[in-house]
Order: sequence, then structure tokens, then C-alpha cells
Amino acid sequence: MVPAPLPEPAAAPASAPRLANWPVDGTISSYFGARLGGFHNGLDIAAPMYTPIRATQAGVVQVAGQPYMSYGDTANIVMIAHASNFSTVYAHVDVATHPPLVRPGQRVAAGQIIAYVGLTGWTTGPHVHFMTIYNQRPIDPLQLLP
Ligand SMILES: [Zn+2]
Repeated sequence: MVPAPLPEPAAAPASAPRLANWPVDGTISSYFGARLGGFHNGLDIAAPMYTPIRATQAGVVQVAGQPYMSYGDTANIVMIAHASNFSTVYAHVDVATHPPLVRPGQRVAAGQIIAYVGLTGWTTGPHVHFMTIYNQRPIDPLQLLP
């Protein structure tokens, strides 16, 4: 997939937490921001099928493998809460042969493998749609990653 031109990202507030590590080793295939008349609310990182996905900060698992119905997508996701006002979402995870390794309520460490890259939902190739949600609002993950 050809990377979209980098639009003006929504600025992450200075108070937003920083992440410990990237969710996968891969290539950015689409940036956060305006895209195709809509708004791309995460950062797409392309990686081969079944690449391990790692928690980007310590937290508690909220969702593990269920579909994410917001924005009309049916991608299966893992969601981790890191604080009452900060969570991360890892979308398009595999559920067929490499289901998520975690369960809701489980505490995870930064860098811990939580799931594997898949093709669930709307996607033309294996990648992680990575979201950082701060005060109920998606913000640009690229500004929080190390
Ligand atoms: Zn995406």
C-alpha cells in the first residue's frame, strides 16, 4: 500500500503520556489524519501475517479479540487501558489461527506480546491499525511513540 501523504496531524497535548515501545516492527503504510474524505483515526503499520503485537505501555486489557464496530469497521481488536483517560487499540488482529494471548481484566507489561497481525475487518493487507485514545479522543500515535 502506498503511504498517504502526511496531513497536518492533530497535535497531541503536552500532557499526553509517552509510549514505551512500538506495537510491531514494520513499515508505516498510512498516517493519522485526513484521508479520502474521511479521517484516519490511527497509524497503520504494515507487517507480515502473525507478526507479534506488543503492548506499548503497561495496562489492563479491556477488549481481547472482539470486533470493533465504531467507524463502520469490523476489525477484531485488543484494547488496553493505561490510565482512566488513556488507552491504546490494536486493530485487525488475527483470531482464526493466532488468537489474542490476553483476556479482559489481565494486567500486561510494556513490550508483552498480546496478539498477532491479521486481516480482520477492512484491510487490503496485513497491518496493525494502532490508535491512541486520550480523553476520549484519538490523537496522533506517532507523537507518543519513542
Ligand atoms: Zn488504519
